[in-house]
Amino acid sequence: MRNPAHDNPDVTLITPTSPMATPTHGGRAKCLQRLVRLDLPVPTTIALSFASVHKLASGYRPDVREILEKFPSDALLCVRPSSEDPDWGGPGAILNIGMNDDRHAILCERIGKDAATEIYLRFIQNYAIDVARLDAEVFDGISGTGSKALAKALSVYEDEAEEPFPQDPAVQLAEILRSMARAWEGTTARLLRQAKGAPVDAGLGLVVQQMALGLGTGACGSGVLQLVNSETGLPQITGRYLSQSQGREALDRRSESIYLEKDPRGPSLEELAPEAFAALKDHAALMRRKLREEMQIEFTIEDGKLHILDGVRVERSARAALKIVVRLAEDGIITKQDAVMRIEPRALSELLHRQVAASSPRDVLGTGIAASPGAATGKIVFTSEAAQASAARGEPCVLVRRETSPEDIRGMNVAAAVLTERGGMTSHAAVIGRGLGLPCVVGATSMRFQIKRRTLTSADGRVLREGDEITIDGSSGQVLAGSVKMIEANLDDTFRTFMSWADAERDIGVRANADTPADAKTALHFRAQGIGLCRTEHMFFEPERLTPMREMIFARDPKDRAAALELVLPMQRADFIELFQIMQGQPVCIRLFDPPLHEFLPTSRSGQRELADALDIPVSDVTRRIDSLAEYNPMLGMRGVRLGISVPEIYDMQARAIFEATVHSNKSGTPIVPEIMVPLVSAKREVELVRGRIEAVAAAVRTEKDADFSYRLGVMVETPRACLRAGDIAEHTHFLSFGTNDLTQMAYGLSRDDAGRFMSEYVRQGVFEEDPFHILDTEGVGELLRLGVERGRSARPNVVLSICGEHAAHTESIAFCREAGFDYVSCSPFRVPVARLAAAQLALADKMK
Ligand code: PEP
Ligand code: MG
Repeated sequence: MRNPAHDNPDVTLITPTSPMATPTHGGRAKCLQRLVRLDLPVPTTIALSFASVHKLASGYRPDVREILEKFPSDALLCVRPSSEDPDWGGPGAILNIGMNDDRHAILCERIGKDAATEIYLRFIQNYAIDVARLDAEVFDGISGTGSKALAKALSVYEDEAEEPFPQDPAVQLAEILRSMARAWEGTTARLLRQAKGAPVDAGLGLVVQQMALGLGTGACGSGVLQLVNSETGLPQITGRYLSQSQGREALDRRSESIYLEKDPRGPSLEELAPEAFAALKDHAALMRRKLREEMQIEFTIEDGKLHILDGVRVERSARAALKIVVRLAEDGIITKQDAVMRIEPRALSELLHRQVAASSPRDVLGTGIAASPGAATGKIVFTSEAAQASAARGEPCVLVRRETSPEDIRGMNVAAAVLTERGGMTSHAAVIGRGLGLPCVVGATSMRFQIKRRTLTSADGRVLREGDEITIDGSSGQVLAGSVKMIEANLDDTFRTFMSWADAERDIGVRANADTPADAKTALHFRAQGIGLCRTEHMFFEPERLTPMREMIFARDPKDRAAALELVLPMQRADFIELFQIMQGQPVCIRLFDPPLHEFLPTSRSGQRELADALDIPVSDVTRRIDSLAEYNPMLGMRGVRLGISVPEIYDMQARAIFEATVHSNKSGTPIVPEIMVPLVSAKREVELVRGRIEAVAAAVRTEKDADFSYRLGVMVETPRACLRAGDIAEHTHFLSFGTNDLTQMAYGLSRDDAGRFMSEYVRQGVFEEDPFHILDTEGVGELLRLGVERGRSARPNVVLSICGEHAAHTESIAFCREAGFDYVSCSPFRVPVARLAAAQLALADKMK
């Protein structure tokens, strides 16, 4: 007899040695071959390759008789999809193929009339709906499972399909294969799987398997078993068994199904069929060991005999995923390196933040950009003052603003979450939100923000007022009505063990962007190797600092200015002492003052009046000064080093605070070599000027304190010109840290605060593949980085290179930085573990090449 499995490479009988691979036949087919190799009781199975299914979809008619020859002539069959990645979906399985009048008669003898009729009825309906594409409702009038119901189903089919129900198993199988192949190539299915990361030309394989019936005489039924709990990943026999059932019915009809293991809550398979249960458990343990994965087994018991129909990877929460790989490695089943490679870095964010429970219903009010992960519920407030009042009452609140500015830091510090109408991934709210670990949705333009009127209108027109409760899901970008069920963050020993394995492989440093003691503690908790960017301006918004800062801004001459800064100096020194102490000798890179001064001035009339009171000057003087500081384009105006050169007393004060804190730390047993970073540089001369003054301050502090100390001076490379002139600039610096937020803004000529307005449209229309403020543009911005690195390194070979923009935690950016020979990346504290894992995976992938 001809053997189709060998004659036709597109149709392969699954044997221990048949050629079978996931990229050609799909994961299910490959897994079934592994089960066959383990000698498990798997019914005869044939696999159709991607190529063969593609041909079917294009109209090619298969020779199904060749397939049928491989099975006993009275067998019923099922067909299941086998895509490369199970997450890409596929058409639903079709069972009981081959059922017709003749087999019905034979089965009535063998397994009883009721079971045989039930099987036939099910098949007619599945075939009608999934293959003949009839409406499910046409069978609504049919009740019961007896001969009458069967006759009615056959006649309804004939009426609706305008042909009798096909009796020839070959016709049935051919139609089913064709219909499943076509379903895969349909536009909706393709778009759905592409959304899950499938390539446009992802293939589908199909497996045709002999059925073990699960209905009939003796112990008959089907079920599903796994050895771990899907939520926790802890060992626990989980699943259900249902007598007289097929497929996954035991899970669908939970109220009727029974436990697997003995359970005080009710009957179990262990009591009903102890031998089958024991064999099942052994098979599951063997699969775990040999397939090196936690698998869910689909099984059927036919007249007391166990059959293993399928094995799929256990579905798992992020927490369970981590537990599972750590246990597999600890049991010696996989290596630690395998474990590290198996967890998607982004999935770690789920563990670091509270999340909306997957089971919780979502009443979506609107969506925006998911700018800072995690979820929180609170009452709406529209101002920072209201947020502080709410915090004082002990009520969690969500700060809702058109956009946030440094003035809102106080509100953000106490809010449970932030929602803004404007902004993108690197807008103020997004950056601060991520730093604070605060769930944040920005650019929620589908909602209407009427801040003055204190209302927020949902995308579907619902009006929310101050005090109404909403939930911000910063992981999905959704704004939800009311409160929802949450899953708490979880950083247990498993997490720590896993991360230590990742760190053992990593070959690039990971630091954190941290501005406050709380940030620094988080950074250390997540094992950041220092602070890569401390944005000092965030330290000036406490009320007791804001007033002297404003006095400084209003000062008439350098003497008055210095006097005002004298008040700020001790506070700033205390900030640095605290940061150095928290970081326990790890490097701390302090960026000198960066924003334009007007950000420190009150915008509201009442604030201006208060300032006039404090300074004892007329309100008109205040408004005049504010007007005089206004700029057409402040982000490209008097900020960063430009301010440092024009108003040098600010940098002098900061340098002094840093050096005095250094002397203090060195004396108190936490020695530190602080790193001082100059922002927004575009010319070598800027660095020379700042460096000269800083050196003078260092010399003065050394003399005054009679103490020596070292420090490092570096430049933040965030203007295109700084990249181009990195050779000159590097001559004066120990390090160059690339600020890709501003660099992206300036490379594209695209405001980082306004990009949210059209970014989704741009990505949708394919103008940009991704939001460049989110995923580093390795082509354009990347070219600037490459030039900067090349020129900086050739002028000063040992210059330390890093990146501190918001891109730093992404795999793509880390890959770029490793290739370009960067020393470290620096990202928001809550993203440090994500960056550590991504870097470890890249190093491992390189080793495996
Ligand atoms: C940058 O520009 O990339 C940066 C890190 O600084 P900031 O976001 O404070 O401008
Ligand atoms: Mg910047």
